Amino acid sequence: MAGTLESAGYTCAEDVSDADVIVYNTCSIRDKAEQKVYSAVGKQAKRKRNNMGGLKIVVAGCVAAQEGETLLRRVPELDLVLSPHHANRIDQLLEQVDQGSQVCAVEPIQIAEDIAIPRRDSDLTAWVNVIHGCNEKCTYCVVPNTRGIEQSRAPEAIRREMLALGEAGYKEVTLLGQNIDAYGRDLPGAAADGSGRRAWTFTDLLHYVHDVPGIERIRFATSHPRYFTERLVRACAELPKMCQFFHIPFQSGSDEILREMKRGYTHSRYRRIMDNIRRHMPDASISGDAIVGFPGETEEQFEETCALVREVGFDRVNTAAYSPRPSTPAALWDNQVADLIKVDRLHRLNRLVNEVAEERAQRFVGSTAQVLVEGPNPKKSDEAVGRNSQNKLVFFPGNGLQLKGKLVDVQIDYVHAYTLFGHMLT
Ligand code: SF4
Repeated sequence: MAGTLESAGYTCAEDVSDADVIVYNTCSIRDKAEQKVYSAVGKQAKRKRNNMGGLKIVVAGCVAAQEGETLLRRVPELDLVLSPHHANRIDQLLEQVDQGSQVCAVEPIQIAEDIAIPRRDSDLTAWVNVIHGCNEKCTYCVVPNTRGIEQSRAPEAIRREMLALGEAGYKEVTLLGQNIDAYGRDLPGAAADGSGRRAWTFTDLLHYVHDVPGIERIRFATSHPRYFTERLVRACAELPKMCQFFHIPFQSGSDEILREMKRGYTHSRYRRIMDNIRRHMPDASISGDAIVGFPGETEEQFEETCALVREVGFDRVNTAAYSPRPSTPAALWDNQVADLIKVDRLHRLNRLVNEVAEERAQRFVGSTAQVLVEGPNPKKSDEAVGRNSQNKLVFFPGNGLQLKGKLVDVQIDYVHAYTLFGHMLT
């Protein structure tokens, strides 16, 4: 949206009080994020009522998709509500607002992303969408309602975007999708090798974009355990630009809860996928997402989640207490877990996750990491900071400004749970 607005002549205001247009790009994954939107928008609506008649207020993103017209009714000072499908048309929609109408653009459409001119906050690493939406039906998740059905981008368009990034000096690309392993399911055709596979899978896409000049590293997120294939693991192990970092949410370690969540795998199937990754790439980083306090979760079932965390030895786990979301099946169930229990389980899981991450980080002590330098350490100017292939932050003495964008070898001297410290090898 920022890129589209800039190319339409808008510039970024220094301070929100100087802005003529305010865009809230919103997340509805948890109730708290959603409540924050209403509070922030309410403040601007009051300003507009009092003395800023010309101010335009826009709500974009998943809360916009979920609430639609309700947002306009609840906050009549709003000018534009647009779902993620319409993000690339924000300039045209603002023109409609200029003509005097309140606009609500939330109907699902084919995303014409290739007309967008993205603005990127880094000149070194970039995110590239490969698939939008999700066809899964996890019973806690609001994403299929807000992001719509899967829409894979054409492989040629993805490669073109990466070629342009390589030419512009970018070194690392993270390919993005809500369920990235579903890439290509909606693209037509069958594989030319007669295997009966569809024409494009995510693994095929990796092979297709891997040789883009200038791009030294490729990451991707988010993977779904149900679709994470042996072929993909082998591609990640064999293609030299692929980073050894996997984000594969597990959500729970209890088979009963996984069934209730409609996740489509079991504790032991998830373990087998992890074992397979480690067989091919023993040092790979593995991160996951976990939800505690899903409706009906017992103490024993919570313990199975803790057991999975211990067994796998995650490098990181993003944890959350279950938050009932509108229009999702689990929100209506009457076996909700009390907030106090959820908070207690969340604290216990977080403690365990940190312990396990710290233990797992020890494997780097004494090893040599190849680090893509991002610049100086913002807190210590005589230090540089970058990331290794496993996505760990690495700090070391050096001139971050001069080294920015370079791949350097750093010997790791000591580690914390999520950061590594070392010295550069010359
Ligand atoms: S796969 Fe992920 S995005 Fe899709 S419904 Fe499940 S949790 Fe939501």
